[in-house]
Amino acid sequence: MINLVLFGPPGAGKGTQSENLIAHYKLLHLSTGDLLRSEIASHTELGIKAKQFIDEGKLVPDEVVIGMIEAKLKEAQNKNGIIFDGFPRTTNQAVALDEMLTRLGTSITKMVSLEVSQDELMKRLLLRGQTSGRTDDNEETIQKRIAEYESKTRPVADYYKAQNKLVSVEGVGSVEEIFERIRTQIDK
Ligand code: AMP
Repeated sequence: MINLVLFGPPGAGKGTQSENLIAHYKLLHLSTGDLLRSEIASHTELGIKAKQFIDEGKLVPDEVVIGMIEAKLKEAQNKNGIIFDGFPRTTNQAVALDEMLTRLGTSITKMVSLEVSQDELMKRLLLRGQTSGRTDDNEETIQKRIAEYESKTRPVADYYKAQNKLVSVEGVGSVEEIFERIRTQIDK
């Protein structure tokens, strides 16, 4: 199996590049952001709780997202692997993911980290906010999301670096150029 973690700050292009990777490598796409937005749209209890965190630009508690991923992992059985998009976002989540995958007899192949400057991120997210309909794509919430990323999520890269699984890819350029860079790293 090829199990990838697509990593990077909000606006780095994780969702966009996931689409290319899923098609190319026939992977199951697991995006905790998408799963949470679908819970919100269905007005589930989980969704109602999660919305408060999301709208404040804060991370949703670990046990919530870990539980969601665990419930979805069995869908990977007939796939070549899984792409984790926006998960894990804390070291606790990364440890839990390793445990879940070990139980399934598999593991993370690589973490692909998309590198984009702060200025570029803010530009992209504000632009996306004009059409995404996402309540968290406004300047104030974006600042908070980036702060959460810096304090809680960035350390997750070190967790995979220690396992020799971290690869960095420049996340600026055309969608195709960036995809080629990612593919080169994965196929190495
Ligand atoms: P995303 O679509 O990945 O940008 O996620 C949108 C929001 O959902 C984030 O700002 C968090 O509030 C929440 N979220 C998504 N994934 C996670 C995660 N793995 N851990 C905690 N919160 C998450």
